[in-house]
Amino acid sequence: MKLRKLKLGHLYPLQLNLYGDIGNVIALKKRCEWRDIELEIDNINLGDNITEHDIYFIGGGQDRQQVEVSIELQKYKSFLHEEMNNDSVFLGICGGYQLFGEYYQPHNADRLNGIELLDAYTVAGHNRFIGNVTVKTNFVEPNTLVGFENHSGLTYLRGETKPLGEVVIGRGNNGEDRTEGARYKNVFGTYLHGSFLPKNPHFTDYLISLALIKKYGEAELTPLDDKIELDAHAKAVSRAY
Ligand code: GLN
Repeated sequence: MKLRKLKLGHLYPLQLNLYGDIGNVIALKKRCEWRDIELEIDNINLGDNITEHDIYFIGGGQDRQQVEVSIELQKYKSFLHEEMNNDSVFLGICGGYQLFGEYYQPHNADRLNGIELLDAYTVAGHNRFIGNVTVKTNFVEPNTLVGFENHSGLTYLRGETKPLGEVVIGRGNNGEDRTEGARYKNVFGTYLHGSFLPKNPHFTDYLISLALIKKYGEAELTPLDDKIELDAHAKAVSRAY
């Protein structure tokens, strides 16, 4: 098989990398390497131009860092919409996820504009959701996603933006409608830290497959021995909140 190469743009790692969200980039890198897929990683910092990538990742962060990134991202809003419409894959975690929507309204502070890749909005809640989360989903096997949430923002989905799944354990998007995360086209957002992808190898491969289909029209991925990862996943499923 010819050497396949993917490019990942890591958006604002110095500002948004809470709770080890860099682990998501490492998981994508390793699961590509183990299939002889080269994953080139570009760190995109404040002031850097954003150019075409097959995958974009943005992590979580506190409100203050979100303000800086919210302002910067507005410069690239239309470009990133073009990338979304070209089927680039996006993964946003927590604070980064919130900025994929229309806005994030903190308590006692100005509204942060998002880039509207997702038809969603976030308002600050009065309680902080902190704990283990299990989500039942219907587009990967096993049909569960696990992680750890730590946010006060309440995210509500609209229109064609759908959740990643239904919360089994935890609070998820807003603690009210039992949804967690969001998806529109190849744009994904979730509140799950942990970091998220290492304990969800099936979802990691799903994202890699989408990027391969976008770039090469095919997504042949050699199966890996995921016993350790899936044992960790199974152990985390339905762990008490
Ligand atoms: N500041 C946002 C909130 O508390 C995001 C936090 C995070 O990224 N963990 O909802």
